[in-house]
Amino acid sequence: MPTELLGLTLEELRRLAGAWGEPAYRGQQLFHALYAERRFAFARMTNLSRSLRERLERDAGITLPAVQQRYTSADGTVRYLLRLADGRAIETVWMPEARRQTLCLSTQAGCAVDCHFCATAQLGLLRNLTAGEIAGQTLVVLADQPRQRPTTNIVLMGQGEPLLNYEATLKAVQLFADPKGMAIPLLKITLSTSGIVPGIRRLAAEKRRPKLAVSLNATTDAQRDALMPINCKYPLAELFDACRRYPLRARERLTFEYVLLGGVNDTAEDARRLVRLTRGLRAKVNLIPWNAVAALAYRAPTDDAVESFQQILRRGGRLAFIRRSRGQDVAAACGQLASLDSSAPPAT
Ligand code: SAH
Ligand code: SF4
Repeated sequence: MPTELLGLTLEELRRLAGAWGEPAYRGQQLFHALYAERRFAFARMTNLSRSLRERLERDAGITLPAVQQRYTSADGTVRYLLRLADGRAIETVWMPEARRQTLCLSTQAGCAVDCHFCATAQLGLLRNLTAGEIAGQTLVVLADQPRQRPTTNIVLMGQGEPLLNYEATLKAVQLFADPKGMAIPLLKITLSTSGIVPGIRRLAAEKRRPKLAVSLNATTDAQRDALMPINCKYPLAELFDACRRYPLRARERLTFEYVLLGGVNDTAEDARRLVRLTRGLRAKVNLIPWNAVAALAYRAPTDDAVESFQQILRRGGRLAFIRRSRGQDVAAACGQLASLDSSAPPAT
């Protein structure tokens, strides 16, 4: 079996070079070629010796996800359907803005968490992605997009629950942040979780960690149990205990995502409870009007409900933003990532 290079850290590549009887800096050159220059063919890594290139051709491989489809939205967002080596498909979303681009990555194919308002939940968990598959989404999409903005943000908010695929996700984060590779600052990488409390506590103890966003979506246990069954396992008191203990860096805030479901969790009473729940936390709230998912019996909130919800939070002293999702016309918006064509390996 050839050794898969995608997903190996700088240190691991240095060790591999050593194990092959090459100087360790050859590993660093490989890392640089992959992540900084995005050169994926050994033949084009001309800074390596010919004999090493030959050995790499023979004994190593770089397996990037393949672009199967691009769905381009009127707002510039592109939803990529990517095919993995085993035939599984996942989705990655590219969101360009004037001075920056944001990549929304999947950490699992499907998701086991079963939030009732989310399209990905309908797939169930298909499998965890490897660190190489998580990092590979970024490499493939950046290589596909000719016009790059100066800054890249990464959000781990595509398919999957990142804290239920902890090791691979954190390893991918280290790959993104390595100054010798893509050099994306940790504070430009955001991990979003449905509230896996042991994962949040574990993340809190990491020296190098991304920013944390928590998908709250409800303000009482009864309401959250009904929308997100994971709350039965990790109820609000535990979740907020983990959030309150979460160490924040200078100028860092926690993010709470709150999907507004019309007539369900978008009342003035909900907003007032949210103000009370978040008292004393250095946090901001992103309000996400629900994006329609066929077959789910929810409705989007009215514009009035969204605005009064935000007003109540602001009057209560909370930072609150309305996040209208991008790419809705190509089902690339939050919670819509579950096209049926993505769930199964192709028929052979
Ligand atoms: N599993 C992680 C990250 C992926 S979901 C998590 O749940 O946080 C990313 C965000 O999309 C979450 O905040 C989730 O609450 C939200 N979301 C899910 N379905 C949605 C929908 N139909 N409309 C709007 N947001 C949705
Ligand atoms: Fe999974 Fe997040 Fe969707 Fe919940 S909202 S089912 S955790 S992807």
